Amino acid sequence: MIGRLIRLGAAALALSSSLVWAGDFKVSLLGSGVPNPRPDRYSQSTLVEAGSQRLVFDIGRGVTIRLWQLKIPLGSINAHFLTHYHSDHTVGLPDLWLTGWLQPNYGGRKTPFVLYGPTGVRKLAEGLEQAYADDIKIRIADEHNPPQGVAFDVHEFKAPAVLYERDGVKVSAFVVDHGEDIKPAVGYKIQYKGRSVVISGDTRFSEEVIKQATGADLLIHEVAVIDPDLLKRSPSFQRIFGHHTSPEEAGTVFTRAAPKLAVYSHIARYGDAKTPPPSDADIVAQTRKTYAGPLVVGADLMQFDIGEGGAVAVLPPAYNN
Ligand SMILES: [Zn+2]
Ligand SMILES: [Zn+2]
Repeated sequence: MIGRLIRLGAAALALSSSLVWAGDFKVSLLGSGVPNPRPDRYSQSTLVEAGSQRLVFDIGRGVTIRLWQLKIPLGSINAHFLTHYHSDHTVGLPDLWLTGWLQPNYGGRKTPFVLYGPTGVRKLAEGLEQAYADDIKIRIADEHNPPQGVAFDVHEFKAPAVLYERDGVKVSAFVVDHGEDIKPAVGYKIQYKGRSVVISGDTRFSEEVIKQATGADLLIHEVAVIDPDLLKRSPSFQRIFGHHTSPEEAGTVFTRAAPKLAVYSHIARYGDAKTPPPSDADIVAQTRKTYAGPLVVGADLMQFDIGEGGAVAVLPPAYNN
């Protein structure tokens, strides 16, 4: 694969004319946005490929489309993990579950859909089975789809917990702080062959994220930005922003945890008729008040290769199209 590569070593950033994936530990942003129905930023979802395992964290809008843009069959995901129950993190679940069960090459699942989530995931899965009972019945009778491929294999947990250990890949969940009324809410840490990726989930400034991400190769963190004057005059924006992390706060998290690379995903930015939403450059400038290390503003289909020896390569999304 040829393309512009941003290679981030300890603190250096260099450009290379060709890309050689280390290949055994890779992260793809499937959705880097929030509930805003934008075609360029679907809502939250992240694919982690480590060794033999394909894992999806959060299942937001458009997840099936992004996976198939990467030529990954929907039915080939080994396990799925939810951080919390805001709809921008779960609204793609019925699509991934049911479309992945169809038997053309984009689907193909013949074994149960493995779903991990904090308390509430069982209710969600049971509700979907009820909502789609007629579709399931029809496709078994008419298309002879394998019945076990549409079953849920639900793992409901209370964080902190080690959830998954398979072929050297370990996934653990930790508690984050998304606000008093938004519980449970967790983040995830994925470890493979001495390397690690941490996903903050939706959270305010969190000491636990700092603890989990200290020494991590890649920290994927949420962020929320708004013009301070607009925030002052809008009680509803104040409520939303009270549940998230500002760029300055995220910069403090990055400085203290010192991951090899910090990446923003779940980028919440708001404006109104008078005030444009902040740009990527605004987000970076605000983060730079508290953090001087390697930083990328994520985009849908951006990919990260977690190499051995502390190198994280970034493949910009344009090269996937
Ligand atoms: Zn949320
Ligand atoms: Zn969210």
